[in-house]
Amino acid sequence: MGSVILCRVFGIPIRAHFTLFLVLPLFAMRMSQSMGIPWIGGLACAIGLFASVALHELGHAWVSIRRGYGVRDIILTPIGGVALLKQSPRKADDEFWIAVAGPLVSATLAALLGLGGMTVMGWIGWRSGELACLILGAVNLSLFLFNLLPCFPMDGGRVYRAWMMKRVGRLEATRSAVRLGRWLSFALGFYGLFYGHFMLILIAIAVYWFAKMELRGVEMEEAPRRPPPWAYWSAGQPPFTQAQPREYTLDDQDVEVSPPPWERRP
Ligand SMILES: [Zn+2]
Repeated sequence: MGSVILCRVFGIPIRAHFTLFLVLPLFAMRMSQSMGIPWIGGLACAIGLFASVALHELGHAWVSIRRGYGVRDIILTPIGGVALLKQSPRKADDEFWIAVAGPLVSATLAALLGLGGMTVMGWIGWRSGELACLILGAVNLSLFLFNLLPCFPMDGGRVYRAWMMKRVGRLEATRSAVRLGRWLSFALGFYGLFYGHFMLILIAIAVYWFAKMELRGVEMEEAPRRPPPWAYWSAGQPPFTQAQPREYTLDDQDVEVSPPPWERRP
């Protein structure tokens, strides 16, 4: 919604939210001021930052496609990127590998640009190229570290959920990850408020909101399947007839299927 397609990679549309175009000049100005480089250099760094985010998301998307979950699109916003999967991962291993793929891409880019790129540029003697590699290497290193915070639905939080999923199942694992992520997003928000990092406050709010939405989705998917109410009268006989031949006592408080009222004993 409110986004334009920039390009397609592996057939996945990469979209930019319209707010990204509004903040891009501000990002460019901030970067050129803080590093003492010309405005055009700041713009190149800002574009490099969002290209790094897109590559991080493509890492998630590629593994997601390989594991049989489709990817609808990748959306870039001023506070980060999202790869929207066609369905949420149901297996712990799938969740784990999809989650770590993004940070692995960022770590690889950090090493390639920070070490390889800077060495090559220094060797050529191109000063601006060396600086660009240093900045983008640092950007990718921070993307790698920040995303590994166990703040669900960020990557670290998803790794935590995958680890918990093997122990307590998908629903309880999601609840636990959301609880942990909620505390961390409060901490991030207060840190942002205290040190005047406006972006961090926005990220904390987004993380809190998306975690809540995802928990609601998982709760609906994992809810026990119950026959619809009309099954009682449309079938012409009470349902669960095969599950009935046992005595019910008042202590049977935790049974899932209750006997029909006309069979209930005092
Ligand atoms: Zn990620």
